[in-house]
Amino acid sequence: MNRFDLIVVGGGPSGIFAAITAAQRGFKVALLEKNKRIGNKILVAGSGKCNLTHTGKPKEFLDKYGANGKFLKEALNKYSPDALKIFFKDNGLPLTLVEESGKYFPHTFSSLDVLNLLKKQMLNLKVEIIENIKIQKIEKNLEEFCIQTDSETYFCENLVLSTGGKSYPGTGTTGDGYIIAKELGHKIVPPRPALTPLYVKNYVFQDLSGISFQDVEIVIWKDNKKIVEKRGPVLLTHTNFSGPGILDNSRYVENESYLEINYVNKEYESLNRELIDETNIDGKKNVKKFLLKYSLPERFVKIVLKEIEIDEALKLAELSKEKRESLVRYLTSYKMEITKVGSFEMAMVTKGGIALDEINSKTMESKKVKNLYLVGEIVDIDGDTGGYNIQAACSMGVLAGKSMKRKERD
Ligand SMILES: Cc1cc2nc3c(=O)[nH]c(=O)nc-3n(C[C@H](O)[C@H](O)[C@H](O)COP(=O)(O)OP(=O)(O)OC[C@H]3O[C@@H](n4cnc5c(N)ncnc54)[C@H](O)[C@@H]3O)c2cc1C
Repeated sequence: MNRFDLIVVGGGPSGIFAAITAAQRGFKVALLEKNKRIGNKILVAGSGKCNLTHTGKPKEFLDKYGANGKFLKEALNKYSPDALKIFFKDNGLPLTLVEESGKYFPHTFSSLDVLNLLKKQMLNLKVEIIENIKIQKIEKNLEEFCIQTDSETYFCENLVLSTGGKSYPGTGTTGDGYIIAKELGHKIVPPRPALTPLYVKNYVFQDLSGISFQDVEIVIWKDNKKIVEKRGPVLLTHTNFSGPGILDNSRYVENESYLEINYVNKEYESLNRELIDETNIDGKKNVKKFLLKYSLPERFVKIVLKEIEIDEALKLAELSKEKRESLVRYLTSYKMEITKVGSFEMAMVTKGGIALDEINSKTMESKKVKNLYLVGEIVDIDGDTGGYNIQAACSMGVLAGKSMKRKERD
């Protein structure tokens, strides 16, 4: 009989954790997944190593999701990063902290191990995992949900919608859930790619692909106002700026925004002063040599000098005030016009989604449709790189799984 206490639509971390939590409470649960297998994004997460969470207390996590972060307060308090670590440890896959980044991975650094563990948990709890199934329509009658698929019709008292966003569509996330949510009466904040590279006008580093800067200040500007300022690694590619620092900042880019990278982590005035002082001490030193002391890659320095039309062999004493100021500006506070952000195909998460004011943040239940729970990336929540997105997905899933009720028995 296709009748369940709970049906979860979408087999990512949020849906899986909702399924496990409800099944632990004795619910009869089915998980419907349109792909041939669940958890495709778990497999690609952290380049196959699966960065599950991050150091920090739930309160410190909230900032990592921007202005919408406060919505996650209850979810992160009820199922904290520590709780997630304990879950994996208790089930035989303790997490390891990578100190330099603050990221937690399974100690085997294998996404497949994570997915296998979650599958095993669900099978032990008798969650029915139904893969390769296409949902055609979901309707709510007075008592229950009716889910029509390309093969069978299913009925359930509680429904979790956890179909993810629109990014990396090859993994199965093609935005289906937005249509379903809309049909059920929900508002969708327009989805946009996030955690994605940034393209700028007149990009000049195409030949430096692979060069990276470990920890630099990055600012996004709009209308001469700072929209966001986050430090982090920057990677130069053939066509754009990438790396975790850029990806995190990409979440805030709007139309007509500008990107500023401080390659030397020094204020304009401070670098300018140092250049003047060095000119007074050793004016015969060439400009290129002076710049290399800031640990800048030589090939990068050459391109920068070429851009400002400074001869590589030029001595500090020969540098005009105008060129010196252009050089210092380029290295500390040069604003580059952002022409576009990377597409959904390359974005790691989706910004936007089901509007948060229509979801009860204390339960994850829809305020529009009773017994409908909305969890994971499908809702208008996205976080920085570093494990924040999977943690949010798991916390929302657990909160939904803990909050839902069954008729008569609870
Ligand atoms: C390349 C890459 C690397 C990443 N690395 C990390 C990382 O290391 N750490 C981190 O925290 N985050 C990472 N993320 C982000 C993270 O994977 C997601 O935020 C997280 O998986 C979202 O979980 P979810 O449960 O909301 O949805 P998803 O994991 O997106 O799962 C949704 C599921 O629903 C299924 N589905 C969709 N439509 C239907 C339908 N109509 N019927 C049935 N099923 C459907 C999909 O096939 C999919 O399996 C990464 C993302 C990408 C793309």
